[in-house]
Amino acid sequence: NKKILEIKDLSIFFDISLGTVKAVENVSFDLYEGESLGLVGESGCGKTTTALTTMGMLPDNGYIHSGEIHYEGKNLAPNTEEEWQLYRWNDIAMVFQGAMNALNPVKKISFQIAEAITLHNPNINPNDVKVKIKELFKLVGLDTSRIDNYPHEFSGGMRQRVMIAMALACDPKVLIADEPTTALDVMVQAQIIDLINSLRIKLNMSMIIITHDLSIISETCDRIAVMYAGKIVEIGSVRDIIKNSLHPYTKKLIAAFPNIYGERKMIESIPGTPPNLLDPPKGCRFHLRCSEAIELCKSIEPKLVSFGDGHFAACHLLRGDANE
Ligand code: SF4
Repeated sequence: NKKILEIKDLSIFFDISLGTVKAVENVSFDLYEGESLGLVGESGCGKTTTALTTMGMLPDNGYIHSGEIHYEGKNLAPNTEEEWQLYRWNDIAMVFQGAMNALNPVKKISFQIAEAITLHNPNINPNDVKVKIKELFKLVGLDTSRIDNYPHEFSGGMRQRVMIAMALACDPKVLIADEPTTALDVMVQAQIIDLINSLRIKLNMSMIIITHDLSIISETCDRIAVMYAGKIVEIGSVRDIIKNSLHPYTKKLIAAFPNIYGERKMIESIPGTPPNLLDPPKGCRFHLRCSEAIELCKSIEPKLVSFGDGHFAACHLLRGDANE
């Protein structure tokens, strides 16, 4: 499959009054056509920041310190806002975390989807907009007779479908979904997961699913990138990450979600909190919380090394392929 997105050595910093927050450092990954990649990690690990950057949507105090974002071979990292507008929503779109609660309560759903459509097609005629809204409603499994309803007449799950429809309004090739099932009950979560899976197949879309919940990833993704404190610590196929995880942090994360394959056990939380990225610890960023840390971990940062078949992990206790 063709690479659609290539993130190369990306570092994203934020200037705040106390100094510079190194939110994401030296992150690299590829996304292939029709592929779904999960970005997992605790909140604050840089997964949403990475996604916002691929949309050119960093807040004013955030910036790309170094690295590249290739979309279909073109580096978007140096884009001006005008240049980003050509790609944002048209090529890469995002369903933001909690956005379903941010629908305008006094505007009909059809009006809000129409806005998303006309934003990038200002010359489209009103009849075509209506046709497109109905198409999008069908695509996300909503009843087209309800396009003129107001948000409060829709359930949480239906509103999330509206958000997905809005993200698809300009037929993007890449869809990023940030915690797409948060705040929905378990039955509805399963329906949204089914929808995401069916859209990917129907539209041959590439997807990035951001979540702290590994059970969602295991049902929607082909590969997983595990992030900790602004870095990717392990990346590989869903099977490799869940059944054969190598990095101590990934193992802890999986232990925190023991119900992936149905069995419910006590959820083990990971002791400690992620480091302050204003002043990240030297060496391995996980060393303050890692029960397996050795002396070396305090001073030398481990590099990602290959374990074959696209499985990489960064930990001093691990030895990669012989050629590393
Ligand atoms: Fe733990 Fe050291 Fe491996 Fe980091 S490098 S995960 S601190 S053992």
